Amino acid sequence: MILGVDLGGHSFALGFVRDETILSQREYETPRPRTPEAVSAALRERIDEMASGIKVDGIGIGVPGMLDLDREKVLRSPNFSGWEGLPLRSLLEKSLGIPVRMENDANCATLGEGAMGSARGLENYVVLTVGTGIGGGIVTGGRLLRGGHGMAGEPGHLVIGGKRPCGCGGLGHLETVAGADGIEKRAEELGLEPDLKRLWEGRDEPRAKALWGEVMEALGASVASLIHVLDPEAVILGGGLGPAPGFAETLEPIVKQHLGEPYRSFLDLRRASLGKAAAVIGAASLFSPDSAERVC
Ligand SMILES: [Zn+2]
Repeated sequence: MILGVDLGGHSFALGFVRDETILSQREYETPRPRTPEAVSAALRERIDEMASGIKVDGIGIGVPGMLDLDREKVLRSPNFSGWEGLPLRSLLEKSLGIPVRMENDANCATLGEGAMGSARGLENYVVLTVGTGIGGGIVTGGRLLRGGHGMAGEPGHLVIGGKRPCGCGGLGHLETVAGADGIEKRAEELGLEPDLKRLWEGRDEPRAKALWGEVMEALGASVASLIHVLDPEAVILGGGLGPAPGFAETLEPIVKQHLGEPYRSFLDLRRASLGKAAAVIGAASLFSPDSAERVC
């Protein structure tokens, strides 16, 4: 049996997956501070709990942040500060005593949506996860794009201009405007309750309206740029906010405005359908026999 893990940030999710279907899934709070030792001890404890009497043949793990090409080390993770350069895969494998494979968490969600969710049957698609940060994954010609150094498919770090510092160390990235942390920070400055979901529900309030106008413009322009570069069959909106009622409907006309005319009739924005299970299914799929052929 393969266990899929979405390491997340505030919480982590575990699920047993067979034939790309989740048999059981649980979610736990991540211990604080999020040191490698504490997180790996928490994983060990929960895996033992969940797997009592079950033989675990492998653990696929989705990690937020930028990973090296060999999927051995964490290069940068905004949710796990101090993990830079950490050889996480081998550390976990040693501490858990089970083979471990690792992939970026949004890439795992992308694989999951392709296997069982909104992107099923598509060969060319982009998943955009809109939540605490903005993550994503790109599938082109049926293969997950990792790029030359393992860091392709980071739409949260599309440069939209300006000099706002981003958690990755760069300036003026989409995530600084349209990620939950950025949105909640500016909401606070405007005297609004800094809670992403409530802010979205109250998006017609005048101050919130101006804030969301800026966020959706940045997102819409970025989605149009992604479409111009990749020409996907569909863009899937995931994460905490992407599938929220009204979100895709609000975004679509903005994307269309920015798109070149020949692209417009092909615009296909979809809601992600698997929620947190997408990354768990995708992480477990790292152990499928053709997994190495499904990346480029
Ligand atoms: Zn960035």
